[in-house]
Amino acid sequence: MADKLIIFDTTLRDGEQSPGASMTKDEKLRIARQLERLKVDVIEAGFAASSNGDFEAVQSIANVIKDSTVCSLSRANDRDIARAAEALKGANSARIHTFIATSPLHMEKKLRMTPEQVLEQATQAVRFARNLVGDIEFSPEDGYRSDPDFLCRVLEAVIREGATTINVPDTVGYAIPELYGNFIKSLRERIPNSDKAIWSVHCHNDLGMAVANSLAGVKIGGARQIECTINGLGERAGNCSLEEVVMAVKTRRDYFGLDVGIDTQHIVAASRMVSQTTGFVVQPNKAVVGANAFAHASGIHQDGVLKARDTYEIMRAEDVGWTANKIVLGKLSGRNAFKQRLQELGVALESEGEINAAFAKFKELADRKSEIFDEDILALVSDESVSSEKERYGFVSLSQHSETGERPQARIVFTVAGKEVQGTSEGNGPVDASLKAIEAHVQSGAEMVLYSVNAISGSTESQGEVTVRLQSAGRVVNGVGADPDIVVASAKAYLSALNKLHSTAERVAAQG
Ligand SMILES: [Zn+2]
Repeated sequence: MADKLIIFDTTLRDGEQSPGASMTKDEKLRIARQLERLKVDVIEAGFAASSNGDFEAVQSIANVIKDSTVCSLSRANDRDIARAAEALKGANSARIHTFIATSPLHMEKKLRMTPEQVLEQATQAVRFARNLVGDIEFSPEDGYRSDPDFLCRVLEAVIREGATTINVPDTVGYAIPELYGNFIKSLRERIPNSDKAIWSVHCHNDLGMAVANSLAGVKIGGARQIECTINGLGERAGNCSLEEVVMAVKTRRDYFGLDVGIDTQHIVAASRMVSQTTGFVVQPNKAVVGANAFAHASGIHQDGVLKARDTYEIMRAEDVGWTANKIVLGKLSGRNAFKQRLQELGVALESEGEINAAFAKFKELADRKSEIFDEDILALVSDESVSSEKERYGFVSLSQHSETGERPQARIVFTVAGKEVQGTSEGNGPVDASLKAIEAHVQSGAEMVLYSVNAISGSTESQGEVTVRLQSAGRVVNGVGADPDIVVASAKAYLSALNKLHSTAERVAAQG
């Protein structure tokens, strides 16, 4: 029997930490459900002690996810650990992931602690956590740049205290595959009780080697858990990408000889959901989930693929969920069909009220657009105005006028805390005028740092999906809006970003 490789997804924690990728509780829940459908072994749902918002997100994910272990990150202190344990109370299977930096640079400059103090704190933290939850993961932050002798002492001590998974992060993305693999191998050889824990890799992509480093940690180092994110989401150049690392192990099973439990057919849907939610667009030539990943443009390749697919294809597009552009629903589809499709897409709306609101939007869309694709449905539910009664700002209506040679004008009606207001403005273009009309009333003063439009299913008939990234007082948020009219989509995206700026909670910084 082959060894099992544990897939630990940290899209909702490390991925969400990247500037602009912050998600609401509902968005996190939706993604967590999709991760469960993917059969991810462990979902790192957040960092419970960092803010009330994070605590609630971890708690609600712990309460609904049944098949995956739900994990919370926690610094190595009693308060953080107790908070994590509390958030995880409702979980079928819970894990606490505690960390402390062990590299000379981080201990001296960041923690201002001596190595002995760090060793003591790590040991105590694991001992404390072990009494609350049985499944404990420990990470020496910046582990790869730590002194190996010191690291051996710390890891041996935390395993003795009951840590069941030892993760070796390459926090800054500095590792090289062979060196990283050998680093883990030597730790496992030197630490007498290393066989009492499962070893894990956590790599960042600063040099484009996060996937390669993770695989070397598995093959050379003997690690049996990989920490990764959908689309490689994460700070700076991101984390190891789940889809790439999973398909590498599956496609080259002849070499790795490991089993992964991931149901790969849900990969593309997960990728879309994460990119639509965060506004981090997937590049077309991205492995596995990029729009061109399975497109054979050259004549020679097309000819080969038509004669025998495996001439140029090492994976099958349908195995990772590329069944896209299949018409799934239309104008005549009923509420039940809609609800069922939502479930198949991994979207579970909380209440009947939310389903009704989403269905009303679906009908409205179907009136304007004859073919409704999965992408449209996902955009429709990720459009935050579905749950607008909870939000401060909600879109109502928009009219704008533009003509060659004239300056465009826009008038927008929206709600502020349930009350309708309107704003008017002119601008350089209809989108600019519409957003200025909102700003004329709201006066957030936020700076727009990104504006992007995507056609959800590829033609001008499709819905436009707009991402707006706003920056204010050191915070960065994304708003996403979808509509066949891109000016309306832009206004919705802007309002959704304002909602996120409004519902802010200061967060404690986590590890990289
Ligand atoms: Zn990280």
